[in-house]
Amino acid sequence: MERHEPHSCNNAAEGRELRGCKEEELGEICLANDLARFRGSQVFRWVQERAVRTWAEMTNIREADRKLLSAALALQPLELRREQRSQDGTRKYLFGLADGESIECVLMDYERRRARNRQTVCVSTQVGCPVGCAFCATGLGGFRRNLTAGEITGQVLELTRLLRREDEGFQVTNVVFMGMGEPFLNYEAVLKAIEILNSPQGQNIGMRRMTISTSGVVPGIRRLARDNAQVGLAVSLHAGTDVMRDVLVPMNRRYPLAELLGACREYSETSGRRVTFEVALTEKTANKQEASAVAKLLRGMLAHVNLIPVNPVAETGMKRPTEERITEFAGVLTKAGIPVSVREERGTDIEAACGQLRRRYGE
Ligand code: SF4
Repeated sequence: MERHEPHSCNNAAEGRELRGCKEEELGEICLANDLARFRGSQVFRWVQERAVRTWAEMTNIREADRKLLSAALALQPLELRREQRSQDGTRKYLFGLADGESIECVLMDYERRRARNRQTVCVSTQVGCPVGCAFCATGLGGFRRNLTAGEITGQVLELTRLLRREDEGFQVTNVVFMGMGEPFLNYEAVLKAIEILNSPQGQNIGMRRMTISTSGVVPGIRRLARDNAQVGLAVSLHAGTDVMRDVLVPMNRRYPLAELLGACREYSETSGRRVTFEVALTEKTANKQEASAVAKLLRGMLAHVNLIPVNPVAETGMKRPTEERITEFAGVLTKAGIPVSVREERGTDIEAACGQLRRRYGE
């Protein structure tokens, strides 16, 4: 396994994190240090486009200027702790943070998507998660802290750097905020990371190619509709009734289905985009009754349902349903006029379900 040197950056600054700064912010910091504004743009390109991990790599910036800036800006690369490669091409990474915490990040289905020029990365937004969904290994470990904008962009940058070693032209094209954590409980950092990743001077990832996946934080959905409705929205629905969803997604007790669907309609109307509703299917939930409840809830909405047969997680004891049950569930939705797809299970051989690798490593 390939390994990065832990924290091989050449500065010990405790200042603002470089990877979480927008280009204009870096320009301001340069001006405040009596440097030309364009130096900020140069630094931004090195960090966000070239994905450098040290100041020394920024070869078109004078050493004296690098020293000055490194006193104000902390460049803290993530430390690669584990990499797992699935037979289906999915790669899962465990990265260490400066304070010793660790997070997961997944490059989805690398080989197949490479052929289609599409590279999707699933990033984390928190260390652990306070939501506690029934089928999720991340929730089992509890919540540690929010990630900073730089730690979020950092996952895309580290992956880009790693993959460019084997494919010079590697470029992340899509980002899903679907890893560890609830993105809307870390709203500012997530939206800032999105803006940075969208910058044409950096990774240049289209707004419409980034998707936030939420467990149903209604104020976050409403805020996204107001602030940046170009960003895609996915909702972990998992059940069509409050009774069932209360159990599977505890966030439902705070924001029940009627409120959640109201906010989703608001987002759809503002953005003109359909909302993706994720429905995890377990042996217990993959039945006609549940399918009808979901169909009733979403009928007439600008929606798409993504059925996800669960990856088995030993700690939750949940099991994958049979193929017949999955087909039957999809059939009920199709009959109700709701577009539906079944997400192929990826990376089961490498514990690709959110939070599994971190738990294993922790143990
Ligand atoms: S599924 Fe997402 S929101 Fe739910 S506990 Fe896991 S990480 Fe948190």
